[in-house]
Amino acid sequence: MRRLTGIGVSPGVVSGRAVILIQRAQVLRYQVGERRLASELARLEKSRERSRQQLLDIRARVALRRPELASLFDAQLLMLDDPMLVSRVADIVRGQRVNAEWAVQQVFHEFSSVFDEVADPYLRERRGDVSDLAGRLKMNLQQGAATPRELLRELDESSVIIADELTPSLAAQVDWTKVRGFATDAGSRTSHTAILARSLEVPAVVGLHNASDVIQAGQLVVIDGTAGAVLADPSPEELARAARGEDHRPAVGGEVERRRPAATADGVRIRLEANIEFPNDLAAARYAGAEGIGLYRSEFLLTGPSGAAIGEDEQYETYRGMLEGMAPGPVTVRTFDVDEDQLTSRLTRQPLAGGWAADQERASRQGLRGVRLSLTRPEPFQVQLRALLRAARECPQGRLRIMFPFVSSVDQLRAARGMVKEAGAELARRGEAVPAVPIGVVIEIPAAAYTADLLAREVDFFTIGTNDLIQYCLAVDRADERVSRLYEPLHPAILRVIVMVRRAAVRHRIPVSLCGEMASDPALLTLLVGLGLTEFSMTPAAIPIAKQVLGEVRADELRALARRILKLATVEEIERELTKASVASGEPNRGVRL
Ligand code: PEP
Ligand code: MG
Repeated sequence: MRRLTGIGVSPGVVSGRAVILIQRAQVLRYQVGERRLASELARLEKSRERSRQQLLDIRARVALRRPELASLFDAQLLMLDDPMLVSRVADIVRGQRVNAEWAVQQVFHEFSSVFDEVADPYLRERRGDVSDLAGRLKMNLQQGAATPRELLRELDESSVIIADELTPSLAAQVDWTKVRGFATDAGSRTSHTAILARSLEVPAVVGLHNASDVIQAGQLVVIDGTAGAVLADPSPEELARAARGEDHRPAVGGEVERRRPAATADGVRIRLEANIEFPNDLAAARYAGAEGIGLYRSEFLLTGPSGAAIGEDEQYETYRGMLEGMAPGPVTVRTFDVDEDQLTSRLTRQPLAGGWAADQERASRQGLRGVRLSLTRPEPFQVQLRALLRAARECPQGRLRIMFPFVSSVDQLRAARGMVKEAGAELARRGEAVPAVPIGVVIEIPAAAYTADLLAREVDFFTIGTNDLIQYCLAVDRADERVSRLYEPLHPAILRVIVMVRRAAVRHRIPVSLCGEMASDPALLTLLVGLGLTEFSMTPAAIPIAKQVLGEVRADELRALARRILKLATVEEIERELTKASVASGEPNRGVRL
């Protein structure tokens, strides 16, 4: 048995056969069952023939103009028949039962390491030929190959996904009724993949660094989302533990308990709403006793079959359905929060081919995102705003709220408000009524937090998005596992910035809620209540636990605790104080991360 340790982001223990998805290398590795073995080998043979024909054609064209260069392609043609290459690929497909693309990649790596060791510069140069040929073979394998969507459809009920990263657009293509759990090399507690895992309630571990390398396709693994570990070739005891579904979701109270509004033991009313990604999550939100939807991540609409082309009517139906499903609670729709790569790949429907799988590149081009992108791409934004206004018309005023993500200045807010006006004007031109809709911003960029008093004058509400706020305040990429230890919600800077934003909201008499993952952690939630916040939006599964914990603490004690904590200088001191307080109030850490 081999144990890999990562960050448990969604509790529960499951076992299954590994399906490996490698997105960064743009090569998927998956298992080829006995049934598909012959067709996989035939696919490889076809690719070899296609490659041969292409090389012969190129050779002939080159020979016409530069005969001396034509022989360069002879090397590649010879390699095609070299038993060390395509035949070796076929052996790997047969032996390891993996797909041909992956086997080509393996053989290329084997060749590369041999070439790296030879002293002869001429021979070393041949590495380029092998690389070229490997690329050609993979390209030709693509023809007629199954798309990731088709592959994912082939998952059976005993699968667990092991991926280098699992982007939301790929996750949206997975049939989660068939996947028992997943684990990724990248990611942190607040990466979108982690958020998704919690809302889907599948056990998940992220930040494993090299799980997709170490674990073989088809290998039996246990994913322990509670302990943050993945076990390859688990012991019979571990398997039995997974079979019992041990440590799965803590039991939530009965119907009455769930419907009871949240309040502290001394009677301070706390409003708990739900964060959702898909309209289907409404049921979970209602079941958990959410009082409304505090954050609908609408960009997940773009992962549907019609992608970024999703029309006004279709969106209108979705928003209307959500209002209906959540009645009489409010629904806060955050307008599309994607970056350029994400939007482009969603437009071209190629989630795996580069683009937004390229995390590092994404991190370095993080500026054009959220409302900033919407302002430069007014077309889809206008469609969304019109659909929202139409849906808002059909419910009591104020039940649908529009929220702009990634705002960093008052003029962006004004420009976005201008867009809402324009959408209204278009509806008026069509002879339709234009409702008044509350407009808010997500405070998630330090610049917005520092100018919260200026923004507060021009909006109807604030929502503090701590997932991004923390990463930008502390300069820690929330998806990069290498710096995840520095991602500290309890950093004094974060607590101060939250206090500052709340104060600006209170002064300008606008409501302020907090929708980051911080709120899902009961220990942090109590501190936030101590800091004066009374509205939260969180993953539905966290609501019953939050309610229970809040009912057992006194807000006046939490305020005193927060005052003490605000004077402390380090995360460690703050954690110690928080732990001491929870133990003193008879609330030992309930297995939540502190
Ligand atoms: C946030 O940034 O805190 C937030 C809630 O939004 P997201 O996680 O979707 O960026
Ligand atoms: Mg955000």
